[in-house]
Amino acid sequence: MSKLSRRQFNTKLTKGVGAATIAASLPINCIVANPMEKKKLGIALVGLGGYSTYQLAPALQDTEHCYLAGIVTGTPAKEQVWSDNYGIPKKNIYNYGNFDEIANNEDIDIVYVVLPNSMHADFSIRAAKAGKHVICEKPMAMNVAECDAIIDACKDAGVKLGMGYRLHSEPYTQEVKRLVKEKTFGKVNYVTAEAAYRSLGSPNQWRLDKKLSGGGALVNMGVYAIQSLIYGTGENPISVSAQEFSTRPKYFKETDETITAQFEFESGVVGNMMTSHNIRANRLFGSCERGWYELDPASTYIPLAGRTSNGELNFEQESQQKLQMDDFAKHILFDTPNLAPGEMGKRDMMIIAAIYASIKNGGAKQSLNFEPSYGFGG
Ligand code: NAD
Repeated sequence: MSKLSRRQFNTKLTKGVGAATIAASLPINCIVANPMEKKKLGIALVGLGGYSTYQLAPALQDTEHCYLAGIVTGTPAKEQVWSDNYGIPKKNIYNYGNFDEIANNEDIDIVYVVLPNSMHADFSIRAAKAGKHVICEKPMAMNVAECDAIIDACKDAGVKLGMGYRLHSEPYTQEVKRLVKEKTFGKVNYVTAEAAYRSLGSPNQWRLDKKLSGGGALVNMGVYAIQSLIYGTGENPISVSAQEFSTRPKYFKETDETITAQFEFESGVVGNMMTSHNIRANRLFGSCERGWYELDPASTYIPLAGRTSNGELNFEQESQQKLQMDDFAKHILFDTPNLAPGEMGKRDMMIIAAIYASIKNGGAKQSLNFEPSYGFGG
């Protein structure tokens, strides 16, 4: 294959761009390439709630390296609707009871767990045992032990594990990571992150039910603020102190409403975060030796916006979910870095546990002990 590498050739085949012309001009043995390289990976979404319906399934219509191959739902009425909307064959539709039979389905390469948090570990582990690669939504699980169980199950089964942390594939976030890594503005001195919205929905929603959610604002939006602080400094924190605020106790009966926390980092960066189910805020700001960066909003779906002390940032706006799922598929197909590995989800769960422990102990500082590279993706 002289002018085209095998990968370029396969990419063109996958996209159907000029495949016939190219194939006609190549010796026959060049066409028989590694089938894994040609294939789009099949994803099965488990849980067809708001996120699957309005973000993931539409994004999967545009992905280049994966596609919506199957669904797993506990609501029979959704089966026909999704089958009609997305041309999903009956054999690729499962419920929570017969889910394990997915092991025999060659159309499904990746299981994407998009269920209430209390169900993440069970379905991620079952998916791994079925021999499928796993994407697990945030927060990874209910506690650190469950995170370990998911990581171990994926290792034992030899399958890949990625978190649904879409921002690692998003260009504004990637730019912040680059600015920090390359020390464009010198050392980072201070980072503050806010990830919060005002919840006015049904008080019976699962997010307010601790048995299903595992916590309140912290496990839901707080994960974004924790993530922001870490990629905004390029470091894992070494300690955290936290406070909880409650103004609507009748609505937030079981779960935290608003939490603030302060972090220390090895290099001396001071970190600050706020997360809430009662306040609207969405921002990441970093003050550095010779300048600053800011994303506002920093973690909404689209569009993010940002600026630095050098001026406005301006990147193409694309579906973050499309970019995220393609990045995970490329990790499987082409061994590119896993941008959000399971260890990253576990690290964040350890920080969440430390924040709750600090609150329980009147704001006492909790030590955190990570290897410097622990949890970082590519
Ligand atoms: P949702 O409430 O809209 O959907 C939940 C789905 O789970 C529904 O299809 C529901 O039928 C099903 N379900 C099964 N058992 C249930 C039970 N016992 N109680 C309630 N629902 C049950 O939730 P969502 O917004 O789609 O969130 C699902 C997961 O995705 C959560 O873990 C959430 O944190 C995560 N999420 C991530 C992002 C992101 O940007 N990465 C965005 C939204 C949600």
